[in-house]
Amino acid sequence: MHDEHALSQDIYEKEIDPDFIAPKYWVDLLSHAIKSLYQYYFNNNTGFDIVSVIPAKKNKNPRLENLLERISKNFIGGVNFIPDLFIFSENARSLKTLNQQQRYVEITNTLFLNDKYRNLVRGKRVLIIDDVITTGATFERAFSILNENQSYIVLGLCLAKTVSINETSKICDSCGRTMRILKNSDTEIRFWGCTGFNDTNTPCSHTESIVVKDCPLCGRSMYKHYNRQHNSYFLSCEGWNKNPKCTYSESL
Ligand SMILES: [Zn+2]
Ligand SMILES: [Zn+2]
Repeated sequence: MHDEHALSQDIYEKEIDPDFIAPKYWVDLLSHAIKSLYQYYFNNNTGFDIVSVIPAKKNKNPRLENLLERISKNFIGGVNFIPDLFIFSENARSLKTLNQQQRYVEITNTLFLNDKYRNLVRGKRVLIIDDVITTGATFERAFSILNENQSYIVLGLCLAKTVSINETSKICDSCGRTMRILKNSDTEIRFWGCTGFNDTNTPCSHTESIVVKDCPLCGRSMYKHYNRQHNSYFLSCEGWNKNPKCTYSESL
């Protein structure tokens, strides 16, 4: 739900903007993680020897390579930042439409270690950055490549995990079919809609608002609403017309 969370909005932006430039807080966040993660996991302040990224495919915006370049400016020596540690073969395609098994096969056939670093990674502590993890197939492939080449420690770091809202279903109270998250094209507010809506024999038009949070005053559900006059959104307590009445609301 990209409209609900700043990081989700930026991840969504990366999908639609071919010239996407990572926001500064990604640089700051990842720089902090590179400085702190090793100590955090291994209780030892040695730190990483090599930090790399999952590279862009051919003719695509090298957004993570650019991000790595900006991160490297926050470090004075100690860490070897290598944007091209891994390379995709020319025919590599997007994993987006593939299922988990297909992703595994595709990535195994197309992601490789850059030959010139084969000796460099041996015995090293390596951190690999990706922006979004979906099934983990890409990281799995990167780990197995570095294990084959005898890296000492390999960690993966990502900013976000894909959550499929289509897999999150609930049952219709009215007819027992599953419900899906739909979006009102006018207000852009999402809601639960029964999948029986288009059934020709026994249609069901049951819908439910999506609970965004519990009301801090009375504990009942709060829903998102659209104020047409001000072109703005707000949350309101479902108790506004109930007894006992609660008129708590929050602007969004
Ligand atoms: Zn129904
Ligand atoms: Zn309330």
